[in-house]
Amino acid sequence: MLKEATSVDTNEDQQFKVCIIGAGAAGITLALRLARSGLSVALLEGGDLEMTERSQTLYEGASEGYAELDISRLRYFGGTTNHWTGYCRRPGPSDFAIRPWLPETGWPIKVESVDPYLEEAARIVEVASQFDVASWTNRLETNPLNITSADLQQEVSLVGPPVRFGEKYRSEIEATPEITCLTGANVVEIEANASGDRVSAVRVRSYDGKEFQITADYVVLACGGIENARLLLNSDSRIPGGLGNSSGTVGCFFADHAIVRAGQAFISPAASGIFQRPVWTTEDGNTLVPHLIATPEAAATAGVGRCALRANRRNPGQRSFTDRLFSKVSDYLPFGDDAEPEEYELLAFAEPIPNINNRMTLSDERDAMGMRKINLIYQPHELEMQAVEHVVKLFGAALGAAGIGRAQIDTAPFEERFFDWGYHHYGTTRMSADHTSGVVDADLKVHGLDNLYIAGTSVYPNGGIMTPTMTLVALTLRLGDTLEKRML
Ligand SMILES: Cc1cc2nc3c(=O)[nH]c(=O)nc-3n(C[C@H](O)[C@H](O)[C@H](O)COP(=O)(O)OP(=O)(O)OC[C@H]3O[C@@H](n4cnc5c(N)ncnc54)[C@H](O)[C@@H]3O)c2cc1C
Repeated sequence: MLKEATSVDTNEDQQFKVCIIGAGAAGITLALRLARSGLSVALLEGGDLEMTERSQTLYEGASEGYAELDISRLRYFGGTTNHWTGYCRRPGPSDFAIRPWLPETGWPIKVESVDPYLEEAARIVEVASQFDVASWTNRLETNPLNITSADLQQEVSLVGPPVRFGEKYRSEIEATPEITCLTGANVVEIEANASGDRVSAVRVRSYDGKEFQITADYVVLACGGIENARLLLNSDSRIPGGLGNSSGTVGCFFADHAIVRAGQAFISPAASGIFQRPVWTTEDGNTLVPHLIATPEAAATAGVGRCALRANRRNPGQRSFTDRLFSKVSDYLPFGDDAEPEEYELLAFAEPIPNINNRMTLSDERDAMGMRKINLIYQPHELEMQAVEHVVKLFGAALGAAGIGRAQIDTAPFEERFFDWGYHHYGTTRMSADHTSGVVDADLKVHGLDNLYIAGTSVYPNGGIMTPTMTLVALTLRLGDTLEKRML
């Protein structure tokens, strides 16, 4: 069932097995998963069915060093999947591993905990589940890039339609009797009981000023990577500092992938294989983007994180003066044929390095629902740019060793090389082994609160080099199993 919060009869008891706050990728996935087990679910969505100003402006806040907060996510039914790009990459062991040379890395779970859910997650976001280049080259009738390097892996990202969760699942939600989805249902506080160890109620406000409470055996916060922390911090009427904040890390460790211009390459046309095009589409409708990644071993030896490199073919007419000088080098490349080398612009994203000082705090200013707004401060770690330079160096060495090309590193300051953010919001309610260093445990339960869970990229202790949403859907399916076990 789907209805507006304004139509709720506040005299009626609003009691459910599970209350999910936020109907984006995580909230919708979890509601449908739990309803399959016959559990009654309240799915509370603050926005409307379409984008509206009255909802989107509630995402405004101050941001220093990062994108504007109200454009980097969407606040309506379906959430930020209403404008995500659909890139998916399978997580690997190194994305979850503790690496002592990188500060604050490591998840309290291994990738094997997520693996069993990845196939279903890939189906939900409508991509195939093979991510190695070899699985695709036959179908594309081309070869991998012709280099042999022990330090580089060739992989692909798969790009989904991209799935708009609101559009795709609206009719299923409407037709599922176990789900009561309320739109325009802005959660303004999660209330704890007197002893502070359980959530007692969720306080909701509609746009016409009506206020009511929802009670549930279990509450799941699924408001997105920034808003999950904001709601915990705003839920401080009983516990100073907000819910789940005994470590003081709610809102800390914010991170995102910075996409940067990494340099340029000149490659023999006979050898560029799958890299010849930035995007490929197969006959059966799969879209994929090839990239190169430093192996975990190569990154460890260099003392940096991992970094993914994409090559975009460039028209020679687009060269700058310095590019033209560098391209002279290509006149001497030992291609053994008369073909002009192909030119590529290299774009990279390195894994973001967690930093406790990259954080959001609450300001004194309030939004139209009475919630305190956010102040966010962010600065990418210098190790991230070192990882970018490292992978271009490896690429240049591999091209040189194969005699098929050259690569040049862009060493301009970060601000000049910056291309865009990934808009992957990590870390603000990070997963940790105990309550002293993070917010949720390995089962996504908030430390110290028996019935409050969090689904979303805010629980990622570090983002690795995966695009996060397919993994987030897999983690949410796993949370569905956890909750089902507790209840049935
Ligand atoms: C431009 C762009 C491109 C992207 N491209 C990719 C990509 O290619 N690959 C990838 O993996 N990821 C991508 N992402 C990230 C991806 O969109 C997110 O990872 C994903 O949407 C997160 O899902 P979520 O359910 O946690 O949050 P959201 O999808 O943001 O959903 C949160 C929901 O909670 C609701 N809500 C918020 N506050 C409240 C409240 N107080 N009360 C009630 N409801 C509330 C919101 O209205 C929203 O519907 C992109 C993001 C952007 C902005």
